[in-house]
Amino acid sequence: MQPTDVKNPEYYHKVVDCQYACPAHTPVPQYIRLISAGRYTEAYMINWESNVFPGVLGRTCDRPCEPACRRGRIEEEPVAICRLKRVAADFKDDITHLLPDIPKVKNGKKIALIGAGPASLSVARDLAPLGYELHIYDNQHKAGGMMRSQIPSFRLPAEVLDQEVNYVLDMGLITHFNTYVTSLKDVLSRNYDAVFIGTGAPRGKDLVLPGREEGKANIHIGIEWLASVAFDHTHNIGKRVIVLGGGNTAMDCCRTSRRLGGEDVKVQNKAS
Ligand SMILES: Cc1cc2nc3c(=O)[nH]c(=O)nc-3n(C[C@H](O)[C@H](O)[C@H](O)COP(=O)(O)OP(=O)(O)OC[C@H]3O[C@@H](n4cnc5c(N)ncnc54)[C@H](O)[C@@H]3O)c2cc1C
Ligand code: SF4
Repeated sequence: MQPTDVKNPEYYHKVVDCQYACPAHTPVPQYIRLISAGRYTEAYMINWESNVFPGVLGRTCDRPCEPACRRGRIEEEPVAICRLKRVAADFKDDITHLLPDIPKVKNGKKIALIGAGPASLSVARDLAPLGYELHIYDNQHKAGGMMRSQIPSFRLPAEVLDQEVNYVLDMGLITHFNTYVTSLKDVLSRNYDAVFIGTGAPRGKDLVLPGREEGKANIHIGIEWLASVAFDHTHNIGKRVIVLGGGNTAMDCCRTSRRLGGEDVKVQNKAS
């Protein structure tokens, strides 16, 4: 009989449904066992290794692990895997001494990361301990991408985000904030060995219907409107609000509208 290859994700498909359903294959049972033993810091580090932002995800993950949880087949609800991640993050001790050592002498390779959202930060987290010199560019004044500019702070407090973003930035990244990259040719001319494009998908979809132009003062594109709230440019909204859509952006627009004075907030999507 061949020894079990636990590095092969297919193995988890057979035995640990929740771990396989997690896009990061987080070892769910292992960290939940540690939480039940009160070992929050160790539980956090297991998460940090596989998904980089446990405090963020413990609040915002779409948690595909939970529908796969076997408890859901014999009880009404699955184990609250996502919220348990938040428990580990909120109750952990200082973890800075547990983070990987960053070589002082670099390996001679220089990488540019365009965009400082979770994609680039995850790449940086994995490359910095290997001695790469990492330059990260973002047009915003801080790293975090849409985690900062779109996900509302009532769902994801800035201090939780800052802490986990800083674990990565403090790995010796060279930051270029307030810098919008307009030319890849220019980036390539700076002798990078590789360039990672982590610029996200920062464009909402407009809906051109009769009346769109006439009503434009009161019609907003979801992700732009959420950013204007996050950056303190928008402080109120009308009393009657209709939100078109049904995903994260739509729900965040509804909840933010209620907080900014919307009294009659309705959502409309194709399914409703
Ligand atoms: C309203 C809303 C709610 C969401 N809620 C959730 C949730 O609850 N759970 C979840 O898992 N996901 C959620 N998401 C999705 C999640 O935020 C994104 O999947 C994630 O942020 C994408 O990461 P990224 O690094 O690819 O890009 P981004 O987070 O978009 O980061 C890209 C960064 O690159 C910068 N950039 C772009 N172009 C340039 C350029 N030319 N030069 C320099 N910098 C540039 C941008 O300013 C940004 O900072 C939500 C998204 C939105 C809009
Ligand atoms: S909550 Fe998200 S990151 Fe955590 S185990 Fe589930 S799917 Fe993976």
